[in-house]
Amino acid sequence: MLFARGGSRSPTLIATENPMSSQPVPQVRLPAGETIPVMGLGTWYLGEDPARRDSELAALRLGIDIGLTLIDTAEMYGNGRAEALVGEAIAGRRDEVFLVTKVLPSHASYADTIQACRQSLGRLGTDRLDLYLLHWRGQVPLEETVRAFEELVRLGMIRYWGVSNFDTQDMAELLSVPGGQAVQTNQVLYNLTRRGIEYDLLPALQRQGIPVMAYSPIEQGRLLDHPAIITVANELEATPAQVALAWVMTRDGVNLIPRAGTHQHVLENRAAVGQRLTEQHLRALDEAFPPPRRPRPLEML
Ligand code: NAP
Repeated sequence: MLFARGGSRSPTLIATENPMSSQPVPQVRLPAGETIPVMGLGTWYLGEDPARRDSELAALRLGIDIGLTLIDTAEMYGNGRAEALVGEAIAGRRDEVFLVTKVLPSHASYADTIQACRQSLGRLGTDRLDLYLLHWRGQVPLEETVRAFEELVRLGMIRYWGVSNFDTQDMAELLSVPGGQAVQTNQVLYNLTRRGIEYDLLPALQRQGIPVMAYSPIEQGRLLDHPAIITVANELEATPAQVALAWVMTRDGVNLIPRAGTHQHVLENRAAVGQRLTEQHLRALDEAFPPPRRPRPLEML
């Protein structure tokens, strides 16, 4: 075991098949017991281009309408403009979404974390976050940031907390600091071209029942013209984006947060939830994008 935490847990991907609804969004269980959708909505770069703002706002609202009710944002994105856009998208329907934002490492001291959270809440137009993540590890001791997260929970400003871009060693350290075992997720870069976490971090988190939240699941669009993905997409009568997303969804204990700024992309991504890759497709994708055979440093975007 690469890092230890009290007791192992069962797999976190739960099928919620409902014959009345064609393709319900499966849920992933957090260590706290609550479940979140396997697919959510990313927001990096949203809210930055005034010409695209209306389309992006409509895309977020559509995503919520069709079950992608996990929204991931960050104080860093557009210096708060993405949070402000999300605030507009969820106005009047806050209870429908599981809202995630992130504190910058430069704000991760005890006092600054609380202040940053207050500012994020203001931009998001809400009184609480569902999940607050440390965006990546910086200079502030983990123990101090965890104490701030605990205080935010006590104040009712956040419900849960987690981390992002933590490698295996960072996770081991986190789980050893007081209160560190309350971590609910590690949001990391994971897609067909970024499979390094399969060597050690992903299995360790799976054993601990801590879900991975996969960011950039279509590699910011760079995966879309890969011949192996196009071949599988043609066989399935799917799009390359759907193949890339469906592949991430074959992993246990992983959810994903593709960003889509248009109606068409949101609908397409949502439809990937029902896309089934066969063993043959998975083998072809493994050949084109081999799994890691040795430890690799955690990649970040
Ligand atoms: P991504 O989701 O892999 O890719 C987004 C790009 O793909 C956009 O250009 C989007 O275009 C396009 N796209 C989306 N759906 C598509 C479809 N069906 N067909 C064709 N193109 C499609 O990249 P990402 O935004 O980097 O990652 C997702 C989210 O993860 C971010 O938005 C952010 O919330 C989070 N993230 C976190 C970290 C971290 O450090 N924790 C780092 C990176 C990202 P349109 O806009 O035109 O739809």
